[in-house]
Amino acid sequence: MAHEDGSRMFQDQLAEKVRPFIDLIDDMRSIGIDKELPLPTIAVVGDQSSGKSSVLETLSGVALPRGTGIVTRCPLLLKLCNDRTVKWEAVISYGGGKVIEFDEPSEVVRHVEQAQNALAGKGVGICEDLITLKITSSTVCDLSLIDLPGITRVAVKGQPEDIGVQINNLISKFIKNKRTIILAVVPCNVDIATTEALKMAQQVDPEGTRTLAILTKPDLIDPGAEKNVLEIVHNRVIFLNMGYVIVKCRGQKQIDENMSISRAIEEELAFFRNHEHFSSLLREEKATTTCLATKLSNALVKQIKKSLPQMSEKIKEQLGEVKHSLSQIEGGPPMEPEEKRKYLIQVITEFNEQITQLSQGDIIVEENLFELMRKEFTEWMERLKNAKSHYHKVVQQVVDEYDQEHRGSELPGFSNYRVFQHVVQKLVSELKRPAMMTLQTIREMVQKQFDHLSKESFKNYPYLHQVSKKKIETIQEQQSNIVKERIVEQFEMEMQVYTQDEIFNKHSLEKGEIAEVKEQDTRSKYPGLLKAYYEIVVQRLADQVPMLIRYFILKQSAKIVCSEMLDLLHRDDTDNILQEDSEIGQYRAKLLAQADRLILANDKISSL
Ligand code: GDP
Ligand code: MG
Repeated sequence: MAHEDGSRMFQDQLAEKVRPFIDLIDDMRSIGIDKELPLPTIAVVGDQSSGKSSVLETLSGVALPRGTGIVTRCPLLLKLCNDRTVKWEAVISYGGGKVIEFDEPSEVVRHVEQAQNALAGKGVGICEDLITLKITSSTVCDLSLIDLPGITRVAVKGQPEDIGVQINNLISKFIKNKRTIILAVVPCNVDIATTEALKMAQQVDPEGTRTLAILTKPDLIDPGAEKNVLEIVHNRVIFLNMGYVIVKCRGQKQIDENMSISRAIEEELAFFRNHEHFSSLLREEKATTTCLATKLSNALVKQIKKSLPQMSEKIKEQLGEVKHSLSQIEGGPPMEPEEKRKYLIQVITEFNEQITQLSQGDIIVEENLFELMRKEFTEWMERLKNAKSHYHKVVQQVVDEYDQEHRGSELPGFSNYRVFQHVVQKLVSELKRPAMMTLQTIREMVQKQFDHLSKESFKNYPYLHQVSKKKIETIQEQQSNIVKERIVEQFEMEMQVYTQDEIFNKHSLEKGEIAEVKEQDTRSKYPGLLKAYYEIVVQRLADQVPMLIRYFILKQSAKIVCSEMLDLLHRDDTDNILQEDSEIGQYRAKLLAQADRLILANDKISSL
């Protein structure tokens, strides 16, 4: 009873001093900070059958999987939380999302095995994924430690040949971390210098500043060897800064007889008290599991305190990054329907403003649309110009041929006018194709930029993006049909080969009035007249085609897109319209949660 009270008080004291620090580290681990920032932790390392599980069992108060061969096949984070108000409860979590709560201590073994099978597969393989077992109870001390597979050299049946290497790598991964306290479990009844556990610890911690050794099985020492063991415990054989603790756990027989762990703790104390050689170790605080727990807690807290400033820095850095990422994906729609409507209005208005500005050349999306269009129109002018020399050549040819055939025989009149008209019509109509091509090219350019804007504006709202994309396409199609019709019309009008243009008249007058001059003169004047006429057609087309395109494909389309987007506001399925891309939503939720935790962690560190 006195022992019970003593341990209560001890635990209360411990809880006060230790718990906040350990909780802090556990919080950090759940944030996932341990990927970027090595967390202070305790890793249990030992050769197979050295007594790791037995020590952990005594510390945690529950039975863990045991047996021969590799029993611990995944790293197991054992979080022990003391809570007087809780009888016993446990949560096991693994595989990024699997969480099982239970309140029956005897089920620990089953759940751990199940988790191991899920992660490492049934059988004897190992896996690097962490299983977290949190035990809250009134009888445990506050401590978090990681149990690792036992060091082994030889593969047993069914194990990969390199199992030893795999396990070594896994252990190294944990004990390499400068903030890890290495808990090396070594049986008293072997030559400690030859144990793999201490060898591995020495490799990563040559000065022994963060290694604590646990000597197990003191009841199995050969009589006469006690002195050697005392030498070791007194740190005179292999020096470790953190020293040695000797513990006695349940032997196989006691396990088979179902001796309870609390009973085993009592037995342990009695064992040392009554021990001829080791009783002094109790006073020196170098014996019993209870003493080990205190030592570990203190060591862990010390380690945590030492790491705090750097961790604090890192957290602030991370928080900055998370906040930046959050600003990149903006706030998302509000929850309340009324606010949501306002938000939709805002989102659509912003998009409309952008489209309008784009159509006015006030903003640049990807490439400068106006510049691209100008280039395209210049090309159109070039085509017209290039067609001119061809035209001149053909006209001259036709006139010459005509002269040849009709030399001196025919009066100039309606019929020769027809011949020339036909030539003009044919050559002018050849310009229809490039005009349509210009339309097509510019339509594609505009549509691409509209699409791009829609994608950017509605990148978080797939529905809005889809709807606007569809609208843009339909509107562009309609508008380009209008332009096509107008171009066709324009060419039909040109086919009349009629102009009242000043240039044409001027040209005619300069060379003399057609009706009043002699026929030879008239004939020689045809090429000039036809050229002048073509000049006028080219001038008209050079202006008209770009004007049509600019007006219908850019300005009008933008206007119609805006007006149709506003129609969305009349619908009553705002929720549907503002449905977020699930990935973005998830990503934001994740970032928000992370930010919350970082802020919390930061607060916690600050308030410690
Ligand atoms: P692990 O493979 O390192 O996890 O070792 P275990 O904890 O499974 O222990 C291996 C064997 O040693 C088991 O049969 C335990 O009962 C036994 N054992 C562990 N500690 C002690 C101890 O202090 N005294 C005695 N007699 N046996 C122990
Ligand atoms: Mg074990």
